[in-house]
Amino acid sequence: MNFADIILPLAQPCYTFAVSHIPDIKVGEAVAVQFGKNSIYTGIVLRLHNTPPRSGRIKPVLERLYPYPLLNARQIEFWRWIADYYLSTIGEVMRIALPSLVKSHARSEEQYQPYALPTERVLRLKSSDISQIRKSAKAQIAIIEQLKAAGGEVARQSVDATATVINALVKMGIVEVFEREAVPTQHPIATSLLPTLSAEQSQALEKIESGLEITNVALLHGVTSSGKTEIYIHRIAKTLERGKDVLLLVPEISITQQLVERLRSIFGPRVICYHSKLTPKRRTDIYMDMLRLPSGNIVVGARSALFLPYRDLGLVVVDEEHDAGYKQSEPNPRYNGRDAAIMLAHLHGAKSILGSATPSLESFNNAMAGKYAGVTLMTRYGGSLPPRIIISDTVRAVKRGERTTHFNKELLDRIADRLEAGEQIILFQNRRGYAPYVECPRCGWTPRCPHCNVTLSRHRQSGRLKCHYCGYSIADSRYCPDCKTSELQAMGFGTEKVEEAISALFPQARVLRLDSDIAASDSAYNRIINDFAEHKADILVGTQIITKGLDFPLVTLIGVLNADNLTKAPDFRAVERAWQTLLQVAGRSGRRDKAGEVVIQTADPHHPIFNALDEKGYQYFAASQLKERQMFNYPPFSRLIRLTLRHADSTTLANAANMLGQGLRQKFGDRVLGPVTPLIDRIRGEWIVEIMLKIETTSSFAAARKIVAQQVANLRQSNQHKSVTIICDVDPL
Ligand code: ADP
Ligand code: ZN
Ligand code: ZN
Repeated sequence: MNFADIILPLAQPCYTFAVSHIPDIKVGEAVAVQFGKNSIYTGIVLRLHNTPPRSGRIKPVLERLYPYPLLNARQIEFWRWIADYYLSTIGEVMRIALPSLVKSHARSEEQYQPYALPTERVLRLKSSDISQIRKSAKAQIAIIEQLKAAGGEVARQSVDATATVINALVKMGIVEVFEREAVPTQHPIATSLLPTLSAEQSQALEKIESGLEITNVALLHGVTSSGKTEIYIHRIAKTLERGKDVLLLVPEISITQQLVERLRSIFGPRVICYHSKLTPKRRTDIYMDMLRLPSGNIVVGARSALFLPYRDLGLVVVDEEHDAGYKQSEPNPRYNGRDAAIMLAHLHGAKSILGSATPSLESFNNAMAGKYAGVTLMTRYGGSLPPRIIISDTVRAVKRGERTTHFNKELLDRIADRLEAGEQIILFQNRRGYAPYVECPRCGWTPRCPHCNVTLSRHRQSGRLKCHYCGYSIADSRYCPDCKTSELQAMGFGTEKVEEAISALFPQARVLRLDSDIAASDSAYNRIINDFAEHKADILVGTQIITKGLDFPLVTLIGVLNADNLTKAPDFRAVERAWQTLLQVAGRSGRRDKAGEVVIQTADPHHPIFNALDEKGYQYFAASQLKERQMFNYPPFSRLIRLTLRHADSTTLANAANMLGQGLRQKFGDRVLGPVTPLIDRIRGEWIVEIMLKIETTSSFAAARKIVAQQVANLRQSNQHKSVTIICDVDPL
């Protein structure tokens, strides 16, 4: 072949280079190419062909980088699918898919340093004439024997001998030493005894197995602590027995570690942990090793683990499949890890299991329609009881004088009881910081971010007022800087304020706080989780972050301080999310032998969501939610594409948005909503406008995406509008 289309890690289409001088080049190989003025990039061969490009001088590929491709055929197909489905370029997929060391880029040829494959030193038996070796040279004889036993070659590092001994053998011409590419070794699988499943669990597993024969995807709806993980483990063992790869995906990096440890205790050291917080070197080593190892690997990871070079996947498990953490919100490609996982499994002819205590309405609907095999597991393992839910009316509490700071008496009394009993308590508030905003009671002044259209949140610990959208912050001041007479008052409350208030009410209690301000550092996150698990604290105050896969057996009471924050969000998914969050939070209580209680404080105690918090109420609630979605033609009864336009100048932005909106309306009619101004219409100094497309499931989504891509490309290329940023989000969350 004469030409190759090369993927570069850029938001650009592929470019064609000449490759006739590279013998036997293959699709998926990494090559160095010159691109732009003097820049050198590592690119990937996407396609080989003989069609010369119509215009421009065609540059030759500079060199081939490795003796084998970096991507196999299924990965290429997977990349193509992501780029196509999520309206991004395949270069953008490369940018997130490959570990950083193997996508080098430099401004000049001198600076360009592509990743070098690691090498190892090897000893080789050169001559079998060992008559020169003295009988007393035991160490030399040992090496010769080791070499003979291994067929003539042994890695230097597995030879237990000093350099002097080896040099002597080299001098005699009996042994030679050379460098070669290091060969990874696959760890053994040491499957220890699998847990014996309960009768209900065995039944669920059987249903999954038989269901998977028909649909390839199973949805395991199992209440918290029902043993979903144990069921995965059984299926994983089977897949490994057949020599195939397994991928177990989780939505959050922070929960990979616990799962890796659990799986390693069963399958041994072959279990690989992969996510974006590992060092670039570690990620690259894992990638390059898997490229050369036979299949039969087991990977636990966050969504970036989808891009490892699986040879032969047999099973993909997506745990907590409902979790919004699977969606990449930034940058492109804005893919959903769960949906991409199902596609990846499909490309390998593998099976997928989606698991959750609170399945997404999308997956639930697929199970109802028979697209997925639906399996339920409704009892907690070991017979522990589901928590008792108490809906606590805040308005009534205020009226009766039964409210102290942020707590209704119903909650406070129980906290006191549990502290007395030496048990643990979690208080949930989905706002970090001290207060979402501060206000001057006299003149009404409220500090706002100069770059975003939001108020600044008070953070007591750091003594600053912070923007949660761009990170801008100013020193907090006690007095209103406007009228200088009155003290600024904290409005609303975040986790810091809850921590302060509860400590004031129960000075003897040991209180910890966990939110993303603290969890920004892994070590702090782990320390707090461990301290709480070891009962070094009585109360844990936290945001969503505490709801993810954590198991604290001593927690018998959970307080949700303000459920209205959750239910009142202006989004058609708000109720689904609120409900999932409440159930996930509630699931943290009363595991094992102690029944737990969950007190939910709300000003709207008659909201239908509170009748569905019994985990068995799911079916009913999901069905009613789906009916609503259908009525308003929302997903899963339609598909959405959200176009977000941003620009520093509001007029330029409005013009571009109107033009795009008109263009789209010509093709899609009233399937186009907007342009509309979102609730927060300015972030980081840029104005924001959104256009939403609602495509009914009966028409071709592929065709619709193509039209959108075309119109967006036109706008990006027009002189008048090219400075406007346009973000395409397919299946936005
Ligand atoms: P889930 O993933 O559904 O939340 P887990 O698989 O983590 O549930 O199980 C909850 C707890 O019960 C874990 O500590 C687990 O070890 C235990 N468990 C569940 N099933 C079994 C079983 N069949 N044998 C032994 N322990 C089990
Ligand atoms: Zn800001
Ligand atoms: Zn004032």
